[in-house]
Amino acid sequence: MDQEFDNYGFDTLAIRAGQQRTAEGEHSEPIFPTSSYVFASAAEAAARFSGAQPGNIYSRFTNPTVRTFEQRLAALEGGAACVATASGMSAILATCLGLLKQGDHLVSSRAVFGTTTVLFSTYLARCGIETSYVPLADLDAWKAAIKPNTRMLFIETPSNPLSELGDIRALADLAHAHGCLLVVDNCFCTPALQRPLELGADIVIHSATKYLDGQGRCIGGAVVGDAERVGKEVFGFLRTCGPTLSPFNAWVFLKGLETLSLRMRAHSANALALATWLEAHPAVTRVYYPGLPSHPQHALAKAQQRDFGGIVSFDVRGGQAAAWRVIDATRILSITANLGDVKSTITHPATTTHGRLTPEQRADAGIGDGLVRVAVGLEDIADIRADLARGLD
Ligand SMILES: *Cc1c(COP(=O)(O)O)cnc(C)c1O
Repeated sequence: MDQEFDNYGFDTLAIRAGQQRTAEGEHSEPIFPTSSYVFASAAEAAARFSGAQPGNIYSRFTNPTVRTFEQRLAALEGGAACVATASGMSAILATCLGLLKQGDHLVSSRAVFGTTTVLFSTYLARCGIETSYVPLADLDAWKAAIKPNTRMLFIETPSNPLSELGDIRALADLAHAHGCLLVVDNCFCTPALQRPLELGADIVIHSATKYLDGQGRCIGGAVVGDAERVGKEVFGFLRTCGPTLSPFNAWVFLKGLETLSLRMRAHSANALALATWLEAHPAVTRVYYPGLPSHPQHALAKAQQRDFGGIVSFDVRGGQAAAWRVIDATRILSITANLGDVKSTITHPATTTHGRLTPEQRADAGIGDGLVRVAVGLEDIADIRADLARGLD
């Protein structure tokens, strides 16, 4: 699945893109902890404020460290513009409020991050923006959900926790045929494994908190896309409403991007080994991982992703009690809902991330009582396997 994305290869861009050395000649990117910038004269200040002269004014909207992160991520996703934000949630908020207005309609896949659903159904609804939810993989349901006032289709692929896939190219074509934008939350794959813009999507969202950081340290997010929608409209929202990424967090994410490709390959290799082992275990009734030939969308995963990512979910025979036994028997894996960390994490979706759904809604979403999700980290695979074997055996 390897391919050359640009004049420079992906790994070169991940390490080099966006850096502008200062007169100090520093090798590593500097952190600029400054809230404002000084002008040489009153006339220069006036020119900056009027927009006649480009340059920094105030770190709510531009900061050199944040800009380096934005330019590097834009290069990796193949977008013309990137706006960094304080969190993944504020990236989604900035995209929606930057590009939608009262009376608009949004169609989202049902299987999106829980807080994203709350943002759409509670806060966007208060602004008069209505959301419909459809099953991610059902193209006919997407077609049927589009109305004359639909402006945006929103997906995460692969989905959490069941690793269903959305066909990005087919959904982009559908969106464009109806004058809509396709927005893809690329948190699970990152550009190292999937480049939605290349497949026709208009906007990519990131929770940088996850794999872009990669070591569970900072909260942040980003929006990537074209110069008009992202560079002007989403940036305009950020500049005015202020969910700004701090320069320190931007610097941590920059360091994360430098090893992104290596980490995503290692996460994928560990996850495939774990999924293959789980599938053969008698206490496991089903494994959800796009890298397994038994996954119903394995061919689509191979076509639109460079590898299969680090999230593996599985059903344990014996329901909630058995699933909790597996979780409680672990000694290395962290019982926490975060993901995208070098440390492996384990969760029971039915009583945590999806605990607020009714039993019927959970059954509808395919979240069984015996379901366990592992975000596979970079520890030795033999130790991860042994940690799970303790409860499963
Ligand atoms: C975590 C997450 C978010 C929200 O990101 P924060 O950085 O926690 O605000 C959005 N989408 C997905 C898929 C996530 O996993």
